[in-house]
Amino acid sequence: MILIDGKSTSLQIQEEIKARVELRAGDGHKKPHLAAIIVGDNPASRAYVGHKIKACERVGFESTLVELSESVQEEQLLMEVEALNNDESIDGFIVQLPLPDHIDDQKVLEAVRPDKDVDGFHPVNAGNLSLGLPGFQPATPSGIIELLKRYEIETSGKHAVVIGRSAIVGTPMTLLLSRNANPGNCTVTLCHSRTQNLEEITRTADILIAAIGRPHFVTKSMIKPGAVIIDVGINRIPDPSRKSGSRLTGDVDFEGASEVAGSITPVPGGVGPMTIAMLLRNTLEATERPV
Ligand code: NAD
Repeated sequence: MILIDGKSTSLQIQEEIKARVELRAGDGHKKPHLAAIIVGDNPASRAYVGHKIKACERVGFESTLVELSESVQEEQLLMEVEALNNDESIDGFIVQLPLPDHIDDQKVLEAVRPDKDVDGFHPVNAGNLSLGLPGFQPATPSGIIELLKRYEIETSGKHAVVIGRSAIVGTPMTLLLSRNANPGNCTVTLCHSRTQNLEEITRTADILIAAIGRPHFVTKSMIKPGAVIIDVGINRIPDPSRKSGSRLTGDVDFEGASEVAGSITPVPGGVGPMTIAMLLRNTLEATERPV
């Protein structure tokens, strides 16, 4: 069984990005500059944004954090987005999700200028992805593609099963896996909450991607021996043995799955760190080659 180490792969990619930033600096280019808007005090969101800002420092990017209170009005948030759109010193920015219930996420994401939308969530970038045109790709599925590539996992002609149809993970994942590229050329089945006979389908997967948000949902019996298992889930579960009283775990029962899988990503240390690396890569691309 091969452990697909997203943490070390992410650090390796960050080293490559850092080297490119230094090379560009030598040619007189400014540092790439990523901004993030965060609304409210959701601890998970704060932690994710903190990791992104730290990663910027590591690779020599500039970063700006715009912090808004939970009670911010949608109009104010849209004004902040517009300010970043118009700030020429900012190459790309993200709006950390989820937003409070009184704010329309989609309206905010659509306000981001597509050539600064390094999360790849704007309909223009989503459309480009579905048409196979250049544009920013969402960081989590493109991080998974990068892992498959760097671990030299054969994808052509394989059956990939994606569980979860979200706009930021499951749906773009199916597009990336099915396109005529390497990695790619998979036959893809997209499963979701209304899928019948899920286990029958997952047992035919050469590559199984779980993006559900339910701890240990994928068990050993759902896995074809030798399959590649990619666990996107990040779930906090109680763990009295930890000082904090809880720990993070994936959508896959790692221990059981490891007994049958050919290769598997851990949680933490799998897909999560790759998401950050791909966000940095998108930001560098925004600096070098605007969409
Ligand atoms: P989401 O809640 O938007 O979507 C969950 C999907 O799971 C839905 O499409 C739903 O149809 C499907 N689903 C729910 N119950 C199901 C069932 N019983 N059978 C089959 N399908 C079912 O979630 P999301 O935003 O795609 O995130 C999924 C998970 O991935 C979460 O744990 C999230 O925290 C994590 N995540 C991780 C990263 C990362 O960087 N590693 C990035 C984004 C999301």
